[in-house]
Amino acid sequence: GPLASVASRRVLQSLMRTGQEARFVGGCVRDCLLEIQAADIDIATPLPPEEVMRRLKADGIRVVPTGLKHGTVTAIIGNETFEITTLRQDVETFGRSARVAFTDDWLADAARRDFTFNAMSLTVDGELYDPFGGVPDLTAGRVRFIGDAETRIREDVLRLLRFFRFYARLGKGPPDTAALDACTRLAPLVGGLSGERVREELLKLLATDRAAEVWRIMVDQGIMEHVLPQAVAVDRLAALDRLEWMVGETEPLARLAALLPAGPLAHSAAEAVADRLRFSNFQRDRLAAIAAPVVDVHPDLPFKSRRIALHRLGPEIYRAVLLLSAAAMGTPAFELFEPLAEASAWQEIPFPLRGQDILDRGLPPGPEVGRLMGELERWWIAHDFQPDRDACLAELERRLVQSSSSP
Ligand code: ATP
Ligand code: MG
Repeated sequence: GPLASVASRRVLQSLMRTGQEARFVGGCVRDCLLEIQAADIDIATPLPPEEVMRRLKADGIRVVPTGLKHGTVTAIIGNETFEITTLRQDVETFGRSARVAFTDDWLADAARRDFTFNAMSLTVDGELYDPFGGVPDLTAGRVRFIGDAETRIREDVLRLLRFFRFYARLGKGPPDTAALDACTRLAPLVGGLSGERVREELLKLLATDRAAEVWRIMVDQGIMEHVLPQAVAVDRLAALDRLEWMVGETEPLARLAALLPAGPLAHSAAEAVADRLRFSNFQRDRLAAIAAPVVDVHPDLPFKSRRIALHRLGPEIYRAVLLLSAAAMGTPAFELFEPLAEASAWQEIPFPLRGQDILDRGLPPGPEVGRLMGELERWWIAHDFQPDRDACLAELERRLVQSSSSP
């Protein structure tokens, strides 16, 4: 698999030059066994971070000290990156303030990890270490905490969300009862997690093909009300369901939008979610545009009003909003075909004028240019996108003459 790349061998061999071990660890080992592309490649070694830096540099490998305090440096070869972390063990476990120390004990490092299948490691020769039975759990689709679920969640509450995201991706059958009970009891603690950490886990959960099913479990267990109280309405879950299986929408933000209340409450819900999850401006605007569109895109609207909606929203958002409203109404996907074809055709008919056309006619640069462009574009839409460039230039001329002759 991808773990056997020339670059990754080079990194491991550089670290092992004087006999110490270095292995692939964590998610990339799990994904390698599943024969899927890993999101990122993590390597562990007993060497201290300064020594890791020294050796890689000596072998001409680019290194960036991305988290020296936690023992992490990043190696870069071409477009591949590798996170190399010194083995750690808990010295004193107390919530997120757990003190850690570097160690040469592979088992102690594995025991700090969250689930059995995330605690495996793999040598460059393909030898697998699986101290907690991760392989049988992976095969059976069991997401199992290492040790007692409640203790492990109390140490780091993020693990509660990680449980559901891995269950959505890899779980088979009902979730582990002990784990589910612990998650249900401890759910109120999720409120204390930073928005960034919650965001990453929820977006990964929403990206899986069992997002609706797992979200429903979290709602039923009374967990989701502590995670995102804006997204717990049961009727919206049905919309998310249909968004998945009927129209095949996979974008996490569109799926999140499907879960928010429709109608007048949509906008404030989108804002509240964006605040809680510390969304970037891009994510915030996109969620709001999809959840609370400023124009109606109902598939039964006349052709012309749909085209205007399409123009106002842009083809991408229009497509997402359309799929969402179809899923909410239960419209079969084929009925969306025509509007979706419009959405792609739209990209081929851009507004034929540019700001320069107005400047070329002697108007000084400034807000007036933008205002006039906007007016002309609305005129063009009102004429159903038909006027070509010459017709638009003629209309511009007409308006310029008109405004210079008026007082
Ligand atoms: P992904 O494919 O989404 O990257 P991953 O399993 O690699 O999944 P990461 O968040 O990249 O997850 O973390 C890498 C590894 O670090 C995990 O496989 C796990 O061993 C360990 N880990 C990450 N977060 C925690 C946590 N909160 N508690 C315990 N171990 C963790
Ligand atoms: Mg990872």
